[in-house]
Amino acid sequence: MITIDGSEGEGGGQVLRNACALSLVTGEPFTIDKIRAKRDQPGLMRQHLTAIEAACAIGGADCEGLELGSNRIVFKPGSVSPGDYSFAVGTAGSTALVLQTVLVPLALADTPSKLVIEGGTHASMAPSFDFIQKCFLPVLARMGPNVSARIKRHGFFPRGGGRIEIDIDPSPLRRIECIARGKLETKAGMVVFASLGANKIPTRIRKAALKALPEWDEDMIAIRDLPADQGPGVALTLEAAYEHVTEVVSGFGKLGLSAERIGQTAGKRMAGYQASGAFAGPYLQDQLLLPMAIAGGGSFTSVKISQHTRTAAEIIGLFTGRSTYFEDAGDQGHLVRIV
Ligand code: ATP
Repeated sequence: MITIDGSEGEGGGQVLRNACALSLVTGEPFTIDKIRAKRDQPGLMRQHLTAIEAACAIGGADCEGLELGSNRIVFKPGSVSPGDYSFAVGTAGSTALVLQTVLVPLALADTPSKLVIEGGTHASMAPSFDFIQKCFLPVLARMGPNVSARIKRHGFFPRGGGRIEIDIDPSPLRRIECIARGKLETKAGMVVFASLGANKIPTRIRKAALKALPEWDEDMIAIRDLPADQGPGVALTLEAAYEHVTEVVSGFGKLGLSAERIGQTAGKRMAGYQASGAFAGPYLQDQLLLPMAIAGGGSFTSVKISQHTRTAAEIIGLFTGRSTYFEDAGDQGHLVRIV
């Protein structure tokens, strides 16, 4: 039984999701206490419960302490059963983070799976649907598994109600090296919004993003009005597609956050990524570690190493014995190597 102190490192929900996925793949049970101790509202929140319940459902696992606010669980994995599953977070909690928990175990199964996940699709502190579809899944496909993702409804904070569908065509994971991102091929962006009334929020967001991206033109960022029942909400997505990787940067509307701030923050993040020579942006970085570790190793260059990444590396080490090394990679930022 592996014992994890949930307050260490990043001390958030990612520790739980990675631990569940690793436990299902390695067959090692674990217990974690002080769950999300570094957050304002510690313990399990709705989205974490859904992610762990999803891991139990696909992995025949048994979990003690599974309730809202719980700060300790004991997770005992069973065997993974591919198939058709539906999971609903019930809030704007992230659909992508539920997917993150079950994707690698199902991607290694013998037969395909289909998932329907309901909840948030474009909300802060989590990957947007676009990030999963255009940034993360294409890199995973290079390791073997072919996973396609469709969005049926957008889900914004606080209402949620989004719906994504995922088809997983499994395959053993193979080691890859992601060092150069290659030449820039296209740049595109989109502001999606629903039920915002007759105001100029989407155009103000676009204008602010463009101010931070002098090499982008206004016609590269489309504005799309979604059916009103998917709102209220607004999200900006910026994509830079290079030969070997597409970086996706998001900005999400929130009460009290100005349109200018949303556009400017996302624009500056994209400008920062473009100015770097790295393969992985700050979020792909921690998300690549799990599949690479299960593949038996791998490497990639990335921007500044995040606390999420260091914490993910430690949890991976506990379950797999693999080590992650962080080295200076000059113009390409940092080299992350899992061995
Ligand atoms: P909490 O922090 O409240 O415990 P949490 O369960 O949402 O919450 P974190 O531990 O913070 O979890 O993990 C968030 C995950 O979402 C990380 O894997 C991170 O890479 C990813 N993420 C956060 N923001 C973005 C973003 N803008 N684009 C892509 N991925 C993101």
